[in-house]
Amino acid sequence: MVIPQFPLHIELLQMVKGYWLSQCIYVAAKLGIADRLKNGPLSCTELASATQSDPQSLHRVMRALASVGIFTATESQQYTLTPLAECLCSDASHSIRNMVIMWGEPEFYQTWGGLLHSVKTGKSAFEERFGMNLFEYYQQNPTAAEIFEQSMNTSSELEVAAMMEAYDFSSFQTLVDVGGGYGKMIGILLQRYTHSHGILFDEPYVIDHCLPTLKEHGIVERCEVVRGSFFESVPPGGDAYLLKYIIHNWDDDQAISILKNCRQAMPAHGKILIMEKVILENDTSSLAKMSDLNMFVVCPGGKERTEAEFKAILEQAGLELARIVSTTEEICIIESTIRG
Ligand code: SAH
Repeated sequence: MVIPQFPLHIELLQMVKGYWLSQCIYVAAKLGIADRLKNGPLSCTELASATQSDPQSLHRVMRALASVGIFTATESQQYTLTPLAECLCSDASHSIRNMVIMWGEPEFYQTWGGLLHSVKTGKSAFEERFGMNLFEYYQQNPTAAEIFEQSMNTSSELEVAAMMEAYDFSSFQTLVDVGGGYGKMIGILLQRYTHSHGILFDEPYVIDHCLPTLKEHGIVERCEVVRGSFFESVPPGGDAYLLKYIIHNWDDDQAISILKNCRQAMPAHGKILIMEKVILENDTSSLAKMSDLNMFVVCPGGKERTEAEFKAILEQAGLELARIVSTTEEICIIESTIRG
């Protein structure tokens, strides 16, 4: 395919209109369009009737999506899957349907509309829009919480394999997944390391729904579940404390308090593994920097950190940064031990 060279102002406009396309993909994901096309092509009338939608309006969205290679229309005006559309099927091996839904929901989509507010005030646009922090909101909105945790499950599906390639978890007898959500990561790890045990720790309203994920990985017997807040304490006795996408949700003081609680709970030989993106000086990839802005608008004090910033908060929690292991995904493993 020859990619046309657009004049710069058109290229910029394409970037600006990214949110139009983003919402179209969200609509298709939310309505489960890709799942309905798995058994063969369907017309917009059939798709609309299956998804309780307006046929003409759905047709316009499908036509727009097909124009960028997501779905394609047959000569008889039926729609079929394309490789991109397959990623929206719920059971595809690289399904991102849950994430697409999460990003398109008001909690994230509308919050990004408040970036200007955040830049002018330094404050979280989410709090301005919803009047509380993200996790307080999820506690009160079970449907939104379910979408968020399912999306985090998907991110683990995509990233944990890459982390296992890059880092050897086999020496850990007991792994504690701190703020582990529904337990997708601990599920994948325990399935691979059959001699290890796990402790899944999160807020009660999250742990209450983790059983299906633990069952899916056949690890119910080897994984204890503990309800609580990591600002109070975390379960003792782990050889490794896993903090995947936890520290970046909080400001330095809160992050240090979580790390101190892990330090207090772990034995002298224990390790803390922060699993997050690291902002590199002269970063050529923009993902960590964009993700940093996402943390900024969504969580008060939330941010992605540089190596120096990780080092500083670890030191203040009585820990020592041992090494940063990168993976083929953008997530890194920041390994730390108790300062000797
Ligand atoms: N580690 C998981 C989930 C990351 S999202 C993953 O990577 O898939 C952040 C998680 O922190 C959520 O599951 C949320 O419920 C949990 N969390 C937020 N505040 C918490 C608290 N005070 N104590 C324990 N867990 C908390």
